[in-house]
Amino acid sequence: MKQRLLWLLFVSQVFAEKPSVIIVGAGVSGISAAVKLIENGITNIKIFEAEDRIGGRIHTVEFGDNFIDMGAQYCHGENVVYDTVKNLDLLEHAELFSAPKMYYSNGSHLQSQLIQDLETVVTNYDRDINRTKGVSLGEAFLEKYQNTILDKYKNDPETHKLASDGLIFAHSTILMHEGAFHWSRPASGRHYKPVKGDQMMVWKKRGYDMILDVLLKRYPDPSQKIPIEEKLFLKKKVTKISWSGTPVVELSDGTTHKADHVIVTPSVGVLTHEDLFDPVVPPRKQEAIKSMGFDGIIKIILYFPEKWWHDSDSTFFFLWDRRDLEGVTKEFSEGPNSWVTNLVALVRVPSNPHVLIGWVSGGLIPEMEKLPLDVIKKGSMFVIRKFLGRDYNITEPKAVLRSDWHNNPNFRGTYSYEKNGYFEEEVHYQDHLAEPLTHGTTPVVLFAGEATHPTHYSTVHGAIESGRREADRIIALYP
Ligand SMILES: Cc1cc2nc3c(=O)[nH]c(=O)nc-3n(C[C@H](O)[C@H](O)[C@H](O)COP(=O)(O)OP(=O)(O)OC[C@H]3O[C@@H](n4cnc5c(N)ncnc54)[C@H](O)[C@@H]3O)c2cc1C
Repeated sequence: MKQRLLWLLFVSQVFAEKPSVIIVGAGVSGISAAVKLIENGITNIKIFEAEDRIGGRIHTVEFGDNFIDMGAQYCHGENVVYDTVKNLDLLEHAELFSAPKMYYSNGSHLQSQLIQDLETVVTNYDRDINRTKGVSLGEAFLEKYQNTILDKYKNDPETHKLASDGLIFAHSTILMHEGAFHWSRPASGRHYKPVKGDQMMVWKKRGYDMILDVLLKRYPDPSQKIPIEEKLFLKKKVTKISWSGTPVVELSDGTTHKADHVIVTPSVGVLTHEDLFDPVVPPRKQEAIKSMGFDGIIKIILYFPEKWWHDSDSTFFFLWDRRDLEGVTKEFSEGPNSWVTNLVALVRVPSNPHVLIGWVSGGLIPEMEKLPLDVIKKGSMFVIRKFLGRDYNITEPKAVLRSDWHNNPNFRGTYSYEKNGYFEEEVHYQDHLAEPLTHGTTPVVLFAGEATHPTHYSTVHGAIESGRREADRIIALYP
């Protein structure tokens, strides 16, 4: 009896002791997990981050007259980001897509009823499509496009031709939203659930990295800041996580680190490409990783000291005539096969008045990310002048930036999507990815990151919720 009591005392003391936790990755999910753990008294934490900064796919840089976001930019609805900052007057509505202008590759400004129909169908591309198992988003959209646009204009050959060209625009735009290289890749079905409220809020101060400052309580009152500096190790890439016994994390510098729990946050692109786990993760998790697509988009950011657009302009869309597409390499031959045609829109940044952001999508992205910046600049200016040169006196940009998320081995893409061939209404592969690796019932390796969120994957708010969820899982073990 006495021995049993002593054993119980020993066990309760072990569990009363606070655990050690390693967090792999200091993106917003890793930071959110760390903050939650620290706020709940679990302070024996090490965060290993491969890059030389925190934030991951939130990356705000100084550019032009202010800041711009190379990664996440918009707060979509009244989600956890909104709730966290709503009393701080940091977000505002972006009037960006309210009055977009559509231009044709012959230089004309398109304003017909067809263009309104096209914009509506592309903006709401995933509404009213047939979500059938095994049918890709592209196939489902084509069916909708045929019924709503092509059939409507079938008796007017000229408009019908333009409507058919509109499909190329629709394809590029959908890829931009999905972050996929081709619209045959995402499933027509999806588990993503939008959060109510304004879907296009932007940051008044700096950029999306404000959320990191608010989460870490560096803003608005720096004296309240959460002390993570001594727990954070930058430029420390994790190369192996051994989890058959007490988890051990190995870094590229050869050092090893033990902890009671490891929270893994790298993107699903990184999980797909890297052989991080020893032993390998169970088949159910391997299948979950395979079920998610992770390709990419590019932002091209141009700074024009001399503004050439009107104050009332917000967004320019580019619609190619198929005949111009065929001849484009003769007009602009630098870089891979007609890459310039993948520049689908040019959008203003409210807080940076001399800057325009070009959005690029499609399968040429890996090659485009390798192009020298001067080719990116020349190609972008070729498109801008071709489409807008008739109506605007286009000036020369002084500086240019281009994102490179896909070729960066710490990301390997931009945001996750549900792949065609895997989607099933009742199966949430994101939940399978989020299941911890356990010893008995004790979770030892836990998974956070946007792709582990069942309904808000691909977003910042999903990433934050996932980090907090995994911190809670650990906190619950040590009441
Ligand atoms: C161009 C672009 C535009 C976007 N636009 C929006 C938007 O408007 N709104 C929105 O809500 N979301 C947007 N997103 C998505 C959003 O940015 C992400 O969903 C979110 O930031 C992901 O956070 P995370 O913590 O899950 O992953 P990450 O930010 O990828 O964090 C993971 C971290 O792990 C690190 N890492 C990787 N491998 C290792 C390793 N082996 N060892 C150590 N560290 C490692 C990485 O460097 C990274 O810092 C956008 C993303 C991109 C790229």
